[in-house]
Amino acid sequence: MRTFPPYRAQVVAEIPVTTRAEREEALAEAGYNAFNLPASKISIDLLTDSGTGAVSTTQEAAAAGADRSYAGSASFYRFRDALTDLTGYPHILPVHQGRAAERVLFSSVLEPGRISVSNTHFDTTRANVELLGAEALDLPCAEFGDLDSLEPFKGNIDLDALERVLTSGRVGQVLLTITNNGGGGQPVSMANLAAAAKLARAHGVPVFLDAARFAENAWLVIQREEGYRDKTPREVAQEAFSLVDGSVASLKKDGISPMGAFIGLTDPEIAQRCETNLIATEGFRTYGGLGAHDLDRVAKGVQEVLDPHYLAARADEAARLAQLAGDGGVDIVQPPGIHALYLNAGRLLPHLPAARFPGHALACELYLEGGIRCVELGSLYLGTLDEHNELVTPAPFELVRMALPRRVYTQGHYDYVAEILGDIAKNPERVPGYRIIDAPKILRHFNLRMAPAR
Ligand SMILES: *Cc1c(COP(=O)(O)O)cnc(C)c1O
Repeated sequence: MRTFPPYRAQVVAEIPVTTRAEREEALAEAGYNAFNLPASKISIDLLTDSGTGAVSTTQEAAAAGADRSYAGSASFYRFRDALTDLTGYPHILPVHQGRAAERVLFSSVLEPGRISVSNTHFDTTRANVELLGAEALDLPCAEFGDLDSLEPFKGNIDLDALERVLTSGRVGQVLLTITNNGGGGQPVSMANLAAAAKLARAHGVPVFLDAARFAENAWLVIQREEGYRDKTPREVAQEAFSLVDGSVASLKKDGISPMGAFIGLTDPEIAQRCETNLIATEGFRTYGGLGAHDLDRVAKGVQEVLDPHYLAARADEAARLAQLAGDGGVDIVQPPGIHALYLNAGRLLPHLPAARFPGHALACELYLEGGIRCVELGSLYLGTLDEHNELVTPAPFELVRMALPRRVYTQGHYDYVAEILGDIAKNPERVPGYRIIDAPKILRHFNLRMAPAR
C-alpha cells in the first residue's frame, strides 16, 4: 500500500537554527547531559515521543468546548466513553500521567515482598513497584537478545520463565508492556498476550497491560501476526484490552495528548481501592488531576491514533529512517518498530569501551554535528558504577534511542537526521568518549554531569 501522512500542517512552530560553536558551548554548559539542554538550542528533538505529538484541529476544537465542572463534567463523560468503547472496561479513572496511574494501581494490588513480573518494566514503572517494597522482575523473550534478528515479536514475555516464577506463589501482578518501550520498542504478539494472561489466571494472579502504545502494537500485529491481516487497528486493540483484567496507559503517547493517562479495570473492588487513592492523591474521579481540555483532547486522540492510514504512514516513516541509517552505515535494533529507532552505538564506535559510554558519545555527537537531541540507553543508564563513578558492570548493549514524535516532523527533517548520522559514520573514530564528573545515586541519567575523555 502506498502511504502518505493523512494530515497537513496548519499552524507551525519555528525551529531554532544554531551554529556548531553555539552547540559546543550549550552542551558544555549542560554538563554534556541532553536533559540539561534548553530546547531553544535544539533543532530536531528526538528525546521522547511523550506529550510531544502535534494535536489536531479536531482535538483543539474539542478542548475549546471543555467543561471544567469539578464533578461530573461533560468532558469526563466524553473521556470515559471513548475509553470504555476502546477497552470494554466498566471502570475508567482519569489520571494526570502514566506514572501516577502506575502508583495508584500498584498500591491497590501489590504488597511488600510480592513480585511484579513483566516483559520489561518501563523505568518509572519499575520505580513505582520498588517504592512499594515489591520486586520488579523483567522476563523478556530470548529473541530480544539478538539485536540483528528479524523476529517479528521481540517484545514478548518468556512464557516458560513466567510459569516458573508464578509457581513460587509470590507474584502479585503480571504486567505486559505494549509495545515494549524498555525492550527496543518491539511489539508483543496477541498469542503471547493470551498465553501470559492464561498462565496468570491459572495461578490466580491479576494481569494488566501497560498500554502506552496500544495502537502501534495493534498495527504491528496486523502486519506481522498470522490471522490478523484483515482486522482493523481498533479491533486488535480491543482484543488486547479484553485479554487482561485491566490496564494503565500514559495517554501522552498513543493518546496524542500533551498530558493524560487512565486506569481501566474490570474488577469493582480494585477499582474502588484505586478510586479512594485517586481522590486522596490526584483529584476527584471525574478529572483525576487533568485539566478538562486534556480530557477532551484524549477523547479525540485515542480515536485519531487508530486510523490505519495514520499508522501506516507512521510505520513507513520509521522504516524509511531505519533504512537510511543503515545505508549510511549505522545499524539499528531490528526490525524497526514505530515510536523510536534504537541505534547500535557499541558497534559504530568500537574504539570506545563501555566505560567511555559509546551510546552517550554518539548522542552528544548527533547534537554537536546536527542539533539533534536523543538519549543514551546503555551503560550510562543501566550499568552499575563504583563510588568514584567508574563503570563496574556494563549494560548488555550500548544503544541510543531516537524517539519519533507523532505528526511533528516531515520526511525532510528525517532525511537531515540520516545525513548527519551518515556524516558521523564516515569517521566514527573521531568521536570522543565521555567520563562522569558527578552522578546522583538515583535516577542518575536525568542529573549527571559528564566531560569528554580525550
Ligand atoms: C511513558 C511511559 C510510562 C510513563 O508515563 P508518563 O505519562 O510519562 O508518566 C509508563 N510506561 C511506558 C511503557 C511508557 O512509555
